[in-house]
Amino acid sequence: MKQRVQRSNEALVVQENRSDGNEVSVKVGMSSKVDRRQHSIDWLRVWPFISLHIACLAVFWIGWSAVAIGTAIALYVVRMFAITAFYHRYFSHKSFKTSRSLQFIFAVLGASATQRGPLWWAAHHRYHHRTSDTLEDPHTPRHGFWRSHCGWFLGRQYFRTQENLIKDFAQFPELRWLDRFDLVVPVVLGTSLWLAGEYLGHAYPDLETSGLQMFVWGYCISTVVLIHATLSINSFAHRYGSRRYKTSDDSRNNFWLALITLGEGWHNNHHHYSGSVRQGFFWWEIDISFYLLKVMQWCGLIWDLRPVPERKKWSHQQRESAGIASGELVSGELMSEEPVSGKLVSGKLASGKLVSGRLVPGEVLS
Ligand SMILES: [Zn+2]
Ligand SMILES: [Zn+2]
Repeated sequence: MKQRVQRSNEALVVQENRSDGNEVSVKVGMSSKVDRRQHSIDWLRVWPFISLHIACLAVFWIGWSAVAIGTAIALYVVRMFAITAFYHRYFSHKSFKTSRSLQFIFAVLGASATQRGPLWWAAHHRYHHRTSDTLEDPHTPRHGFWRSHCGWFLGRQYFRTQENLIKDFAQFPELRWLDRFDLVVPVVLGTSLWLAGEYLGHAYPDLETSGLQMFVWGYCISTVVLIHATLSINSFAHRYGSRRYKTSDDSRNNFWLALITLGEGWHNNHHHYSGSVRQGFFWWEIDISFYLLKVMQWCGLIWDLRPVPERKKWSHQQRESAGIASGELVSGELMSEEPVSGKLVSGKLASGKLVSGRLVPGEVLS
């Protein structure tokens, strides 16, 4: 791997020529030394996250029942849908429209997933897209696996909501309230499950459940699995899988991650065109959140779903055919959004700039 380092007024830019042929520009706003110092874990404020994991161990004492496991699975699916379809595709990317009431209902369901409020979540995610896999990216695996998976949001500098990145939704006071008091909904959900378990245990003893059992399975275990499945998109989906589109980041498409996250595993597709409501661009790319959103559209609950433009969807094939038609692609790589310069050879030596798969003559590059 070759590295080229440039210094501009503010930023350090590292360009890497990786072994797979991609040239990746890493914009560094601060030195890695400063970055590590700033990333200090705030242990006092992360105790709910740690406690949640410890509470799962209670399962060895309270056992299981069909109703408790069924509740855990149902809450996983409903809340994963709220995170993927609304926290991500709606609040972060505005890939469809809905009413203010449904916006709030799904903001509450998303908050019950215990991944902070919708404004905090969406603002950080928008920042991720702006800085993907640079050292400014809060959760690039280039910081190391554990920091990209869960260390980043346990750090002091990421507790605040970056309101300048989410002004469009910050105008709704109900969303600001959810963001400010982000532990209220999880506490209400946990308490309700406990009370429901107590009631079922007394009214229907054949179910063999209890308040504690419903709390541990329905809230603790379901939520911990849900959190780590969501986080796997930040960590695994920027490391393991295939790359259909040559995006300027490390995003990958991964079938197994798409399965457990209801469609988010098509992460290379998503970084290629993040405005699309669907992340599985092709029919064989299972995207359960998209299917459910289509049902909601048919019911009139959401509208103006943004598709992936055909030009973007097929741009990987255009790139390949352009290379064959014009001659042998000697060096250079067409990246998704940005025109990337390269040198083409067609019979005699012809140099130019490869823009959107076409050879633009006149600009001789070395
Ligand atoms: Zn990403
Ligand atoms: Zn996104």
